Amino acid sequence: MYNQFRALLCRGRRKKVTSLVIIMIFLINAMFYVSLELYNLIKRRHKDPWYKSLHYDQNSYVDKTGMRVIVGHYVGGNSGGNLSEDVINSNHYAPVRGAGEGGRPVQLTPREIIPARDLYMLHSYNIVVSDRVSINRSLPDMRSESCRSIQYKLEELPTATVIIVFHNEAWSTLMRTVMSVIIRSPAELLKQIILVDDASDRKYLGKELEDAIATLSKVQLLRSVNRTGLVGARLMGARAATGNVLVFLDAHCEVTQGWIEPLLDRAGSDDVFVCPHIDLLSDDTLAYTKSIDAHWGAFSWRLHFRWLMPSHEVMMNKSKHPSRPYPTPAMAGGLFAVRKSLFWRLGGYDEGMIIWGAENLELSWRAWQCGARIEITPCSRVGHIFRRHSPYKYPGGVAKVLNSNLARAATVWMDEWADFFFKFNPSVAAIRDAQSVWNRVELRKRLNCKSFKWYLDNVWPQNFFPNEERWFGRIRNDKGSCIGVVAGTPGLGGPASGINCGSDLDLDRLLVYTKDGKIMADEGLCLEQGNGRAVWKTCGDSKKQIWQQKGPRLKTVDGLCLTMVASDNKNGGDPLTAKRCMNESRQIWHFERVPWR
Ligand code: UDP
Ligand code: MN
Repeated sequence: MYNQFRALLCRGRRKKVTSLVIIMIFLINAMFYVSLELYNLIKRRHKDPWYKSLHYDQNSYVDKTGMRVIVGHYVGGNSGGNLSEDVINSNHYAPVRGAGEGGRPVQLTPREIIPARDLYMLHSYNIVVSDRVSINRSLPDMRSESCRSIQYKLEELPTATVIIVFHNEAWSTLMRTVMSVIIRSPAELLKQIILVDDASDRKYLGKELEDAIATLSKVQLLRSVNRTGLVGARLMGARAATGNVLVFLDAHCEVTQGWIEPLLDRAGSDDVFVCPHIDLLSDDTLAYTKSIDAHWGAFSWRLHFRWLMPSHEVMMNKSKHPSRPYPTPAMAGGLFAVRKSLFWRLGGYDEGMIIWGAENLELSWRAWQCGARIEITPCSRVGHIFRRHSPYKYPGGVAKVLNSNLARAATVWMDEWADFFFKFNPSVAAIRDAQSVWNRVELRKRLNCKSFKWYLDNVWPQNFFPNEERWFGRIRNDKGSCIGVVAGTPGLGGPASGINCGSDLDLDRLLVYTKDGKIMADEGLCLEQGNGRAVWKTCGDSKKQIWQQKGPRLKTVDGLCLTMVASDNKNGGDPLTAKRCMNESRQIWHFERVPWR
């Protein structure tokens, strides 16, 4: 009996030990798993912000003032990836009380970031955050005091049709755009809001969207059966408009207090396209932030849209009259107001332009050259989500779409500078002849429009394009290398070097040398003597940007000679700097002219 009991007990003990071992193993495993997770989280945190690890277009950057500078040329996105049909096609809008109110950022917990990161590719912004922020959220009033104090006589302003085109936009973002317009526009000014669906295939943009807008009295939805692109979609909206002024908005905007009055006030005059001041909605947190006060739109040699510092004259005027609309050579494209009659009189849009891109430059050139203007009114502030890459599909590929649009715009409006553009962009030149633009050329004739030279000379005299009066070519050092811009962040500049001279088509080595001694590269960069080393800096009035040609030498105003310093680091080239002049081949420069067109 006792023995039997002992055996049982032993068996029990053995069992206990076994269970203990199993529990221990389980605990050790769990601890290991938890520490691994923790390690991953910490690693991810260190890499903040998380979207940095995504592959996106390098052609955008945040400048010194914190303004995100976008270039217009996108890498087409992969919309969907491994996400399930259900995730892609349903609306997950679920507002969290207080989230994003006042335009404040929404921060996700590290755990929430993981799914948000996977979903980011759908729209190229943080959809998890967007779905959490109320479509009626409050926003800060970023207007200056002088703007706020203007009293508009509403009964004297023209009425507006707001046109919002979209292709596969997120439900919450689209609806927030619509709601922001409804709650922040005086009812008597807002005639209608027209949404144009450019053949979206997301389910939630079907009946669910129709039901949502059915409760809103002024909103109407048009659908394009085929994917036409933003030009086709906007034209569809414009044709249905009954207001006096067309106000175009992208589908991921939020307008702020008092946004529409200054637009309508100015657009009423029938000779101007007015853009609001575009603020930033973070693609990560949806925070509303002020963008730099002084900016205008222009473009690079490669016809990439760029935000630049306005001319000195405009800056002086801005400081005297901070609430006045000011001219800009080009508009960003998505957000502007124009009198309906002017829009149609100037030829609407070029219907041959597909999907996305270049329509903003075409419209800007057409407006200026054909007797109208493009302006920015600092009193109208609208937030826009700037995206790092385009989330939707480009039938036939991004390059083809964009290049064909660029080819059209350049052919019709740029005259000699079209030759310049095509010469250095052979892939665009290759598809030039496939474009039928005769009707746009006719339009230009019919409207008796001015030349591109007139535009450059009068609208953008600070431009950095080559012209008949400017020398253009390569500046080669006696040692062999050429002054060039090492491919990097556009607009920001950086240390200047002597680099491999490349070919005659290499825009990074081709320079404009102006009569007043400026050495200009693409992107409006000028060679400037910095502290110790020559750098590429935004062209301006600094004397340090003057390089006088004295025989084969380039001299600063202080009489120092531009020198290519020998260096062992061949990657970044040989540093350039201004030094005491000596009998040195490193200070000898050969000007090799290259025809600019
Ligand atoms: N869009 C469209 N069809 C297209 C491409 C774009 O309707 O084929 C819409 C898009 O949904 C957005 C607007 O056009 O509302 C401008 O496009 P996007 O915001 O991508 O351009 P960005 O602001 O990045 O220049
Ligand atoms: Mn946009």
